[in-house]
Amino acid sequence: MIAVLKHDASPERTEMLIEWLKKQGLGVHVSQGEYTTVLGLIGNTKNVDMDMLRSLDIVESVTRVTDPFKAVNRKFHPDDSVIPIGNAGLTLGGGSFGLIAGPCSVECCDQIVGVAQRVKLAGANMLRGGSFKPRTSPYDFQGLGGEGIRLLLEAKKATGLPIVTEIMDIRTLDLFEDVDVIQVGARNTQNFDLLKELGKTNKPILLKRGLAGTIKELLMSAEYIIASGNENVILCERGIRTYESTYTRNTLDLSAVPVLKELTHLPVVVDPSHATGRASLVGSMALAAVAAGADGLMIEVHNDPIHALSDGAQSLTPDAFDDLAKRIFKIREALV
Ligand code: PEP
Ligand code: MN
Repeated sequence: MIAVLKHDASPERTEMLIEWLKKQGLGVHVSQGEYTTVLGLIGNTKNVDMDMLRSLDIVESVTRVTDPFKAVNRKFHPDDSVIPIGNAGLTLGGGSFGLIAGPCSVECCDQIVGVAQRVKLAGANMLRGGSFKPRTSPYDFQGLGGEGIRLLLEAKKATGLPIVTEIMDIRTLDLFEDVDVIQVGARNTQNFDLLKELGKTNKPILLKRGLAGTIKELLMSAEYIIASGNENVILCERGIRTYESTYTRNTLDLSAVPVLKELTHLPVVVDPSHATGRASLVGSMALAAVAAGADGLMIEVHNDPIHALSDGAQSLTPDAFDDLAKRIFKIREALV
């Protein structure tokens, strides 16, 4: 249920109403917009007397929200969420664009620092790199683990770029203390215990859409994180499994971008690398995602794609990324 307050509702009366609603056993999510305050009521709202609430002189309107997702719902929070990244003032969402680039896997110090320097020069504002890798085969490179995070931190020190890296097991959380954005991969989108634990942290979480996940399932997974206390969630469309698998690795669901922007206040990032699986397709899908309204992109870049330990086929060279970044910024300019 949402209660929209009148624009002249005093802070004291608003606070009294919130306290009273909490005493009824409800969770109250307050969204303070420029002109209105929206109270999102979560929990058993069946017994709330809507007419009584409506009759209060500080209340403008009261409506029931029938969607199963509440805290992520744009009805609860009409303005775009702006997610703070790191501690140097960078944000993502609400007009701030995130260009996340870097290799699929962190392989060694020279590789990650070298790629970080190149993508930064091209205009990326975050560095990605996997250290705990969810590989289909147990015989494939599994990532450098804690050592990979240490190398990412070296690259962060060298370039100032905030770092984004994937967590697979909550028992490794301590290693992520200096990581700026924790990624939840497509294979863990519905690992609800992991989501609940990440909800107890205050780190931004980049939540990928599941391999065959619906938009509603993605939103419900984000709801898990927020319901556990962490509102810093970034959604990521990375392609879904369809009957096509010969010419593209996954099918990029570009329509998910405007759909999500309608349904939720959370920022939406697109990963055209995992969505297509082929470097030659990454550029056009990246540009299309920007045109569709994405708040950011996550793109795999490797100094030597042919010899990459994972996902070389979909990785751009630093030169190709440099060229693409110029075109990304041109599309951004054309949209304003
Ligand atoms: C990745 O970003 O390297 C990754 C494994 O992505 P996904 O979870 O989308 O497959
Ligand atoms: Mn990858």
